[in-house]
This record gives sequence, C-alpha cells and structure tokens, in this order.
Amino acid sequence: MTNRITILGSTGSIGVSTLDVVRQLGEDYAVDALTGNGNIELLARQAREAGARLAVTADDARYQDLKDALSGSGIAVASGRSGLTEAAEGPSNWVMAAIVGTAGLAPTLAAAKRGAHIALANKECLVSAGDLFIRAVADGGGRLLPVDSEHNAIFQVLEEGQRHALERIILTASGGPFRTWTREAMANVTAATARAHPNWSMGLKISIDSASMFNKALEMIEARHLFNVRPDQIEVIVHPQSIVHSMVGYSDGSVLAQMGCPDMRTAIGYALSYPSRPRLDVQRLDFTKLSRLDFEAPDEERFPALRLARRAMEAGGLQGAVLNAAKEVALDAFIEGRIGFLDMFEIVETVMDRMVDTPPAASMDDVFAADARARADAAALLARRAA
Ligand code: NDP
Repeated sequence: MTNRITILGSTGSIGVSTLDVVRQLGEDYAVDALTGNGNIELLARQAREAGARLAVTADDARYQDLKDALSGSGIAVASGRSGLTEAAEGPSNWVMAAIVGTAGLAPTLAAAKRGAHIALANKECLVSAGDLFIRAVADGGGRLLPVDSEHNAIFQVLEEGQRHALERIILTASGGPFRTWTREAMANVTAATARAHPNWSMGLKISIDSASMFNKALEMIEARHLFNVRPDQIEVIVHPQSIVHSMVGYSDGSVLAQMGCPDMRTAIGYALSYPSRPRLDVQRLDFTKLSRLDFEAPDEERFPALRLARRAMEAGGLQGAVLNAAKEVALDAFIEGRIGFLDMFEIVETVMDRMVDTPPAASMDDVFAADARARADAAALLARRAA
C-alpha cells in the first residue's frame, strides 16, 4: 500500500529533509498536505513538485499570496488555524509533526486523535502536554515514532523485551557553540553567534536552544514521556562530535549506542519505514576518519536549563508547559535583541517559581491555559525590565 503523508512545517529544516526522504522512499510514500507559515514561495514550489492535494499557510494574511502562487495547479489552499487543522485531519495515514514551538501542538493533537501515525519532531507536544498527548495517540490508535535524533537513537536501541533491565537513558548533547566559553563571555553573545551550531544544520530557534541547552532540557522531558522512565534514569552527557546520537544502559552493565553522521534524514527515514530500514542516500560514517570521540559532564552552572528540566520533571503536571512557554517568550526576546543570552534562564526560572503551584493537567484546556499564563507572565517580566 502506498502511504500518504502530511508534513506540518514542510518549509522548515525538518520539513525539507522529510520531503527529500519521501522522494528517496519512492512509490511507498505520496504527499497529501503540506503546511508552512511565511515562506510562501518554497511552500508553493514544494506543493507543485510533490503533487500535494492541499497547501496551507498558518498566516491568514498570506492566504492570497499562496493562492496566487498555486493558481492553475489544482492544489487546494487554506490558511490559519483552521487550515492547519484541515491538513492534520485530512486522509493521510502519516503526519510529520515539524512545526516549530507550541504552534505545532493543536494540529499534531488533531492528527493523533484521528489515528494517524505521528512522526514526531515537534518535542513541544510532549514537553507541554506530556501524558495527555501520549494518551491521545493511544486512544486514536496510531503509532508515535520519535524523530528527534536522540530519541530516535534510543528508540533504535531500546529493547522493549528487556524493559525490566533498563537502567538509564543517556542523551548526548553537542554542547553547542558555547561549550567552552565562560559565563562572562556568554553574557554578551548575539543571536547570530548563538545560531551557529557546530555539527547540525537546523532551524533558527532550535539552533539557539541548542546553544543555551534549553533544547536538551526539552529533550529530557520528551524522553521521560516517550519512554516512560523516571527523571533519575535520564542522564545528559556532552559529546562534541555528535556521532553517538544517544545510548541506553542495561542492568548487566551493557550500554547500547546508535551512531551515524549528523543528518536528520536517517532518523526521519527510520521513523517513516519502521520496523524496516530503508536505503538512504546519506553520508556513511567513516571510522578511519574519526580521530576521537569525546564525552564530558555538562556544566549546569553555565547551562542551568538542565537543572530547570529536572525540576519540571520532578514537579510533573504543567511545569513542562510553563517551562516551554516561558522559554519561547524569552527566546523571541533574545532573538530580537531585547535581552541577553543568560537572561533567558532567569526569566524561565522566575516564571516557573511563580507558577509552582499549578495543579496537574486534567485536559488540554489546562495545558493551553498554563501556556497562556506563563507567556503573559514572561511578557510582563520583560516589560518590567524594559521600563
Ligand atoms: P524551522 O524553523 O526550520 O521550521 C519551522 C516550520 O514551522 C516551518 O515550516 C515554518 O514555516 C513553520 N512555522 C513557523 N511558525 C509557525 C506558526 N506559528 N504556525 C505554523 N507553522 C509555523 O524548524 P525546524 O525544522 O528546525 O524544527 C521543527 C521542529 O522539529 C521543532 O520543534 C524542533 O525542536 C524539532 N526538531 C528539529 C530538528 C532539526 O534538526 N531541525 C531536530 C530535532 C527536532 P515558514 O518557514 O514557512 O515560516
């Protein structure tokens, strides 16, 4: 059977890689719907090339631009939240969740509820909605396949039959561009410096999140929900070469690792082809050219995001949603040059302190409410600083 796939966020880094993988998978996959936000030219080109049924821009103001760009193609066009929902609820049996940030939560949830298989790049779904999201996938009857390279690596080496022997999950982190910098030097960096990731080519926001290690913080929470492990079973180790994508440790002392060149197409291809392995045209690891593999403990003084993630995991409930929402507001402020790099940590921690008594989420409405409150709180903190 040919699979049909909808790509939420097709114009982003993961979206572009997914379309390449889909092309490589040949007749096994056909594209159903594609969504983007501001990059209308690329979205229209992708939709024509892939023969999509539907193209959606999340930005209502760009609807006419997309309509014009696709005129005569026969491809349906939609926009805004309703357009994203229409794409997510369409007839495809697969959905790649690759919208950046919390904006990806509602459409991915809609896809999960109707039983689509979800290839999950958007970690915010699990960080904010955690068990509620996992339950929505289970109730819908689809599968959840992790695309984040670390989680995909763990998924590849976690032997479900050996769950009882699972001791720990070891997430690797490149350490980002400031791995060896002092705190004083980090205080003055700009978004342009922070986005320069040493190994991976990624979107702007995740690149800066990698530099601050907020990305690893989100991944810790993501791992907790995906693999149903306790917070104390999740370790982070800095591995600057990004060759070992993550590891699983067992009760006999064995550690299983997944390795490869840093290229998201391997993780995407594995997710979409599971349980088979596809043939992919990606660079092969040449061990004779690897001079060394280094590992070092992360410095939680310079990178307090890791400590905040532990705190959110231990508190449970809505603390993940609070951490993520406050982080998104602080990140935007840093990108716009309104605050310094280290200020992001302080803003997130202050908002978490203020919302420490938030009750556990009973429904998605609670998640969206906590998200909105944390954003408002973070925005108020920023306004006070600017005054
Ligand atoms: P990009 O910034 O490259 O792309 C984001 C995508 O989301 C684009 O298609 C963009 O549209 C769209 N988008 C932006 N804002 C909105 C909005 N408000 N509503 C709807 N769509 C929107 O991000 P990445 O591809 O790097 O990352 C996507 C997700 O995958 C993130 O959650 C990230 O954490 C995760 N991830 C990414 C990895 C990577 O290697 N890049 C690795 C692992 C996880 P447009 O460009 O048209 O404006």
